[in-house]
Amino acid sequence: MKGYAMLGIGKTGWIEKERPVCGVLDAIVRPIAIAPCTSDVHTVWEGALGDRHDLILGHEGVGEVVEVGSLVKDFKPGDRVIVPAITPNWSAVESQAGFSTHCDGMLGGWKFSNTKDGVFAEFFHVNDADGNLAILPDGVDPAAATMLSDMIPTGLHGSELADVQYGDKVCVIGIGPVGLMGVAGAALRGASNIYAVGSREACAKVAKEYGATDIINYKNGSILDQVMEKTKGKGVDKVIIAGGDVDTMDEAIKMLKPGGKIGNINYLGSGDYIKIPRVEWGYGMSHKSIIGGLMPGGRLRMEKLVSLMLTGRLDPSKLITHRFEGLDKIEPALMLMKDKPRDVIKPVVIIK
Ligand code: NDP
Ligand code: ZN
Repeated sequence: MKGYAMLGIGKTGWIEKERPVCGVLDAIVRPIAIAPCTSDVHTVWEGALGDRHDLILGHEGVGEVVEVGSLVKDFKPGDRVIVPAITPNWSAVESQAGFSTHCDGMLGGWKFSNTKDGVFAEFFHVNDADGNLAILPDGVDPAAATMLSDMIPTGLHGSELADVQYGDKVCVIGIGPVGLMGVAGAALRGASNIYAVGSREACAKVAKEYGATDIINYKNGSILDQVMEKTKGKGVDKVIIAGGDVDTMDEAIKMLKPGGKIGNINYLGSGDYIKIPRVEWGYGMSHKSIIGGLMPGGRLRMEKLVSLMLTGRLDPSKLITHRFEGLDKIEPALMLMKDKPRDVIKPVVIIK
C-alpha cells in the first residue's frame, strides 16, 4: 500500500509499505476523510519527537472497517467509524489509574504518526478496536467528523484542564482550530468573558461565532497588557493555552488571578525550559495551577463528543476552510498547515 510519510526531520514523501497486520483485538481501516494537523508540522519540521524514518504521518480521520480480529465484538467490516488520534491500550495500569493517554509510559496512547504508522495511507491499523473506535452515525458529514479525532477532544480538554466554571473570565491563547475548540469548550462550560488571542482575521471571525467576547491580537502588543486593560487590572480566572511557545506561560501566569488555573494543550515543539515568574506566582504560594495534557481518546469519548454534534450543540464544520479530494491531496493539505496562509484554519481531504 502507499502512504505519505516523514522520511526524516524536515522531509516528507510517498512510500510503499506492507499493509498492516490485524491482531486479534484490532481493526484495519480504510480512510474516508483525513486531516493534517499542526502536530504533524511540529513532528516533521521541528523534529519535536526526535528523528523518524519512513513513518506514515496523520492521526485524524474517519474510515471504513475492512478487517477485524477474532476477539473484536462490536465492529465488523463495512462499519463507518470515527478514529481518535489517541488510541490507548485499555488494559495498561496507567489506564486503570485514569490516565489512559499515558498508557505504557508518558504519551503512550499517542501511537499514530508517533510510535506506529498513521492514517495518511490506503489502510491503517487500530489497536484495541472495541475500546477505541466509535460508529460514525448516519447523517454526520465525514469531513466534519474528522474534527472529532483531535480538534474537538483537544480543545474541549483545554477547558476541562483549566476547569472553566460558570461566569469565569477565560483567556484562550491561540485560536487555530485547537484554540477555537477551546473557545467553544469554555462557552459550553459557562464562561462569561472569553478573550481569544490570535492575529488572523479568519480565526477571529470564527472565534466570535464560537463564543469569544473579545479578540486580542498578540502582534499589537503584549497579551498581558491587553488582557489587564480589558479586565481593569483584575486578570482572568482561567487560561487555556493553544498557541505560542515556551515563553507564553510567563504571560499566562501573570494574567491569572490567585487560585486561577491554566490548561495547556499546546505542543511545545522547541525550547528546553518553561519559565514561571517567581513574583507573579506568589513567590511559590499563589495557588495558581498549571496542567498540561494530551487529549483523552478512546471510544466513550468519541461517542460522547459526536453526540454534541448530533444535538447541534457543537458544529465543527466552521473550522474547515479547505476541502480536497483524493488521498494524493494530503501533501498540499499538509503544506497548508505548515505554511498557514491567513485564510486557512483546517484543511480536510475526502477520499470516499
Ligand atoms: P495553529 O498554528 O493553527 O494555531 C496557533 C494559534 O496560536 C494561532 O491562533 C496563532 O495566531 C497563535 N499564536 C502563534 N504564536 C503566538 C504567540 N507568540 N502568542 C500568542 N498566540 C500565538 O495550531 P492548532 O490550533 O492546529 O494547534 C495548536 C497547538 O495544539 C499545536 O501546538 C498543536 O500541535 C497542539 N495540539 C495538541 C494536542 C494535545 O492533545 N494536547 C493535540 C493536537 C494539537 P495567528 O496564526 O492568528 O497569528
Ligand atoms: Zn492532530
